[in-house]
Amino acid sequence: MHHRVVTESYAIASAVACVIALALAVPVFAASSAKGQRVWLVALAVTQLPMAALTFFAVRVPIVRPLWSRLLEAFDPDAARALAAHDPDVLARSPLLAALLAIEAPLTEELAKLGPLLLALLWPPLRRRFFADDARRVPVALAIGLGFGLGEIWLLAVIGSGAPEVQGLPWYALSGFIVERVMVCGLHGLMTAVAVVQLGRGAARVTAGLLGAMALHVALNLPIVLSHARALGVASETWTMIATLWAQVFLFVMILVARWMHVRRDGKPRSFLGDVRCPTCKQVYARPLMGVNLPWARYEECGRCGTWQWVRASDEVADDLK
Ligand SMILES: [Zn+2]
Repeated sequence: MHHRVVTESYAIASAVACVIALALAVPVFAASSAKGQRVWLVALAVTQLPMAALTFFAVRVPIVRPLWSRLLEAFDPDAARALAAHDPDVLARSPLLAALLAIEAPLTEELAKLGPLLLALLWPPLRRRFFADDARRVPVALAIGLGFGLGEIWLLAVIGSGAPEVQGLPWYALSGFIVERVMVCGLHGLMTAVAVVQLGRGAARVTAGLLGAMALHVALNLPIVLSHARALGVASETWTMIATLWAQVFLFVMILVARWMHVRRDGKPRSFLGDVRCPTCKQVYARPLMGVNLPWARYEECGRCGTWQWVRASDEVADDLK
């Protein structure tokens, strides 16, 4: 039977997910990044677009999976035989296999997200700029994660389109996919931020940051792995529900962590979305988190005079003008 590479439903759902992710992300970047930094952010995001597919087809499938097979043959030969025979219960019976699959994406994807930035920083002009003007590390990480996440949407659409049960589904039947993918576009950046904020602080701290990002990624994926393993005797569907709730809590906590890293980690306190001058009272205030976001403007309250008004998204007060 012949399948298209991406079913029409997956193509529409993926496009919708990309539009929502961009609509949420662009105002955050416009408000939280420094003006001279935006070219960087776009370049990093674009560089990351093919990384999910590259990680999967050039690293995980040809290198990592054969390595896992070797380990399984050496330490759990029963599971290796069950896997070769496509036994659907093999994950539930082999803790080693479940553990290997749990670390596969975190190991490869966190390296794929940090790698291009590390390479870019070998070039002295970029290196100087990145470390000189305190560089706003969290927006850099979010741009990396957004690019990776957008590319991953299409990778998963291609993989998902091969399943017989999705043929003929309407696109809105994939709303779970859309919501999950939009959240993951943010989560990828929030996890990699833990490594990005350590850049320039010595090899030990960068390594610790990278391991921290990988550990967070394992923690995020854990309920999904447990669902495949049908762990603790709980049904797979229950684990899927737990995984969704867990991802939401995880996202919320990671936003708080990122806010803290963005505000604190460069010495002086700063608001997450930057500071602007109020068009009404002409005083400088820290942009509040609550507001209506458009790519070019925000409807928000001035922290000084209390006026609710539209303020240009990029109306940022440079740090030296405060
Ligand atoms: Zn005001």
